[in-house]
Amino acid sequence: MIKLENIQKVFRTEEVETVALGGVSLEVKKGEFVAIMGPSGCGKSTLLNILGLLDNPTSGTYYLDGEEVGKLKESQRTKVRKGQIGFVFQSFNLIDELNVEENVELPLTYLGVPKKERKQRVEEVLRRMAISHRAHHFPQQLSGGQQQRVAIARAVVMNPKLILADEPTGNLDSKNGLEVMQLLTQLNQEGTTVVMVTHSERDAGYAQRIINLLDGQVVPEVSL
Ligand code: ADP
Ligand code: MG
Repeated sequence: MIKLENIQKVFRTEEVETVALGGVSLEVKKGEFVAIMGPSGCGKSTLLNILGLLDNPTSGTYYLDGEEVGKLKESQRTKVRKGQIGFVFQSFNLIDELNVEENVELPLTYLGVPKKERKQRVEEVLRRMAISHRAHHFPQQLSGGQQQRVAIARAVVMNPKLILADEPTGNLDSKNGLEVMQLLTQLNQEGTTVVMVTHSERDAGYAQRIINLLDGQVVPEVSL
């Protein structure tokens, strides 16, 4: 599903040049659950943003379902991303002015899904995420764990084939973190490919495979 070949990402700010990714090659197969680990600043979020078509690499090639997508213009990237890739962030990124139902409905509105179908799909996904009883609450009225369940509901409401999660349990206590991991595992078992950045060994244990990053490079796997 995903194939990266020699991906480099260089950030240039005034006189400083940061090589965030220094030639990353990797593959993720359809239906896999992969964890990306590594110390702070090693390029994990940069890699996830490139995988999610939020940013382009400086060089290298990115194949998504066989199509080269690493050199697309922003408008084309948005088109490929829409409805196909769901994001979950450490800080939830919900819209405070919208209630739970409205937050989850938003991606469907963007996709032009008719109102009746939107309502049905929102209701169904809130039920699956066990957050239906908070449908009319606003993000600030919810616990962190509940907010992240809403964020996951928003990410999956358009049935994406790929979920990218950047430290999804980073702001949660152990119990809520566990619930989030169980939801991601459930989605993966239903066929969604999941790529998750994490600092937590426990969370990485839910993945089928761990990719370790160090200083913008994939640490080679050691086979014993
Ligand atoms: P991680 O998620 O592993 O902590 P990041 O991918 O956020 O690491 O960052 C990798 C490196 O790239 C860091 O040195 C960071 O400061 C730098 N970096 C990330 N984003 C930008 C940006 N937009 N502009 C400049 N430097 C950046
Ligand atoms: Mg990060």
